[in-house]
Amino acid sequence: MKPETWEQLRCLLATIKSTSPFYARKFNAVDMGDVQSPSDFEALPFTTKDDLRDAYPLGLQAAPDEKIVRIHSSSGTTGTPVILPYTAKDVQDWAIMFARCYQMAGVTPLDRVHITPGYGMWTAGIGFQAGAELLGAMAIPLGPGNTDKQLQMMMDLGSTVLCATSSYALLLAETIAERGIKSKIKLRKGVIGSERWGEKMRARIASELGVKLYDIYGLTEIYGPGIGINCDEQTAMHYWDDYLYFEIIDPATGEVLPNGTTGELVITTLCKEGAPLIRFRTHDLTAIVPGPCPCGSPYPRIETLTGRTDDMVKVKGVNVFPAHIEEALALVNGASSEYQVMIDHLYGKDIMTVFFETSLQQEDRAAIEQALLATIKAKIGLSVLPKAVNIGDLPRSEKKSKRIFDNRY
Ligand code: ZN
Repeated sequence: MKPETWEQLRCLLATIKSTSPFYARKFNAVDMGDVQSPSDFEALPFTTKDDLRDAYPLGLQAAPDEKIVRIHSSSGTTGTPVILPYTAKDVQDWAIMFARCYQMAGVTPLDRVHITPGYGMWTAGIGFQAGAELLGAMAIPLGPGNTDKQLQMMMDLGSTVLCATSSYALLLAETIAERGIKSKIKLRKGVIGSERWGEKMRARIASELGVKLYDIYGLTEIYGPGIGINCDEQTAMHYWDDYLYFEIIDPATGEVLPNGTTGELVITTLCKEGAPLIRFRTHDLTAIVPGPCPCGSPYPRIETLTGRTDDMVKVKGVNVFPAHIEEALALVNGASSEYQVMIDHLYGKDIMTVFFETSLQQEDRAAIEQALLATIKAKIGLSVLPKAVNIGDLPRSEKKSKRIFDNRY
């Protein structure tokens, strides 16, 4: 931990119980005077999404009413939403972080920023707009839908930066190709809200729109989108460590993991006033990338998200993520990217079978199975049972298909 980060944390912890009734209750059993070192900090309890839901409606508020200027709400899939109050400084800080994202993507005050994420209680559209305005670019706040109008405005106003989800960016790219209007489109950059999306889709959007793409990261609980983005190196996402402290933990044990190891991202807000969060579990899987970035930016990096903790399974003491299998398959010549994992408990031990598709003939499959076994063993230290099957044998689904089946319980 950087000394200046520890200083920020110390200040935050010194006042949190007096400013936040939520944390006064949560840290009831903790004497904040005892938190004297980064390792004491790592012993503090996590804050979970359930904690935030339980605080509905305004239980997270940590500043007086006259300082709260806005609320946002996270789009919970089920049940009670989470309400996040913002002070004027929070709104400003968020815009500063977002403007940095645009700068990292090479956006300048001369750009015209076409904003298709939605406006409303959630943090999407308004974050993209505030960042663009602070940078001095021209914000074009269309919001989602009405593709005809989007494309007309894109041509008439000469939009140069597209902000969108990956699926909407793909729809726009396909429509532009269908209508043969690519020569009238002036886009040069795409800032895409981070979902987990494949390299193939990425390459298609980039080539059909003729743009360079940047993944932007964020979540409503922590300001919103704009807390991280990839640079031109395209290998990882920089994040703003003067506003946020990132830890990576083992999702099963809660233990803090060293840099370079994949685990669950846990975020602490260093400057947030309206609803500060300490050790908030994001359920996003990533790793902190060790060392400086070749781009020269002083900001640290996390890897592009590799999934959610809900996708993780533990086998013989090893945490297995879909990304591990995907990376191993990519390294084995002749294996396609389609796979399915079955985990069973047989004869007193866990057995993980990895079915994967290949166009190789039956007699050539033993070698490729051995190659996959060795690759996974080297990668995560786990011996699996590899089973090559024909192309098309494994189920396909339009949506992200379930790949790992745990039959042990
Ligand atoms: Zn970089």
